[in-house]
Amino acid sequence: MTLTVLEPATEQVLAELPRAGADEADAAVARARAAYPAWRAVSPPDRARLLHRLADALAGEQEELAVLEARNAGKPIGDARGEMGMVADTFRYYAGAVERNLGDTIPVSGGVAMTFREPLGVVALITPWNFPLTIASWKLAPALAAGNTVVLKPAELTPLTALEFERIALEAGIPEGVVNVLVGPGSTAGARLVEHPDVAKVAFTGSTEVGRRIAAGAAETIKRVTLELGGKSANVVFADADIAAAAAAAPGAVFGNAGQDCCARSRILVERSALDSFMDALEEAVEAVRVGDPLDEATDMGPLISADQRSTVASFVPDGAPVAIQGSAPDGPGFWFPPTVLCPVDRGDRAVREEIFGPVAVVVPFRDEAEAVALANDTIYGLSGSIWTRDGAKALRVARAVETGVLSINSNTSVRVSTPFGGFKQSGYGRELGPHALDHYTEVKSVYYAT
Ligand code: NDP
Repeated sequence: MTLTVLEPATEQVLAELPRAGADEADAAVARARAAYPAWRAVSPPDRARLLHRLADALAGEQEELAVLEARNAGKPIGDARGEMGMVADTFRYYAGAVERNLGDTIPVSGGVAMTFREPLGVVALITPWNFPLTIASWKLAPALAAGNTVVLKPAELTPLTALEFERIALEAGIPEGVVNVLVGPGSTAGARLVEHPDVAKVAFTGSTEVGRRIAAGAAETIKRVTLELGGKSANVVFADADIAAAAAAAPGAVFGNAGQDCCARSRILVERSALDSFMDALEEAVEAVRVGDPLDEATDMGPLISADQRSTVASFVPDGAPVAIQGSAPDGPGFWFPPTVLCPVDRGDRAVREEIFGPVAVVVPFRDEAEAVALANDTIYGLSGSIWTRDGAKALRVARAVETGVLSINSNTSVRVSTPFGGFKQSGYGRELGPHALDHYTEVKSVYYAT
């Protein structure tokens, strides 16, 4: 079977690849299993050195990787460069973690009790198409640092940088079999990894629906699972905020990556007394978003990933939808959709409640702090969000009250290599990045030594 990979900005064929199924998944797990004892036995300083070399090699190929990612995922080249920088930084960060994978000593009678953080074994990493190599690196780096071997299954729509990663890892000296990339459909290759008895853990990023299926499948073999799923995050703008700054930043927070971002602040909640001034400033900012060729340095937003994704997104903006602001998008080939803001909307509308995963935002006014918090929490999701206010105490009160894993105050940035990332509620469980990710790639072992 062959997989045809398209370039979403042109609809041209970018690559034809062999397509793996369940048998190839079994073979990849067998390679990872065979490589595990030697990899976990690599001394900590040597494993750290190898991961630093890998980080250097990734940084050395940053431009080629960025162009490939920009073409395959349809993302602006400037964004792709930033993401590839983060990939290298993620490996550097976890290279430093290898020798800080500390245990405890615990006071007991008659001897010494100590804990070790042991690797799990073979870990399956199943990743989506929106930030292909970046999200893979959030899983690869801590998994390898902790001494696991991995099988990475990228999304079929965007497998190209994962295949480059496999080559770069080998060239950097990571032993054969430690990193295995499996390009095949989720329904066969991915599902086989989830049920495979020799896979100790599945780390997944993608839709809540598939996440639910993976958690259920993994239960058969009591696999460890971490899930990073969808979101419907709120961008809460109080009237006492710097309204111009909040409005100028809002498009980037929801139209970045053409809205195909689990952290997209796609519900913009605005205190009613500031609604008119916010909408005026937002209109200017949305109309300034340049949609076009991902390889053009001036582009802010590229196309959607596929024709299917475009029709899903379009279903949220039917004829007669309350379009308050709409930017422009190119005609012709490519899966384009213009940045769109809906207002006024009914709080029960699909566009208000469901994850759109495209460049469509809703603006919903609120009366006071209590209503802002209630609206922000009125969703099955709990991934991200922003709070804009000049009142520091209010900012912290609201931050504590909003049920999400990652928040930013007077900013929309919430993802950093050194800080934990993950969801509350149906946005998933477990944390990636920061010091917490290692916990999810190790088991705690307690050893008692009688003295
Ligand atoms: P999916 O959740 O379907 O795909 C994510 C990954 O899981 C892909 O590698 C996919 O493989 C794989 N997969 C699919 N089914 C299974 C299965 N039964 N067992 C194991 N692995 C499986 O996301 P989609 O690409 O279909 O996107 C749909 C929606 O999901 C989006 O519109 C968005 O709402 C959400 N999403 C959220 C993301 C996030 O960052 N939280 C990222 C991507 C999507 P393959 O695609 O190769 O078949």
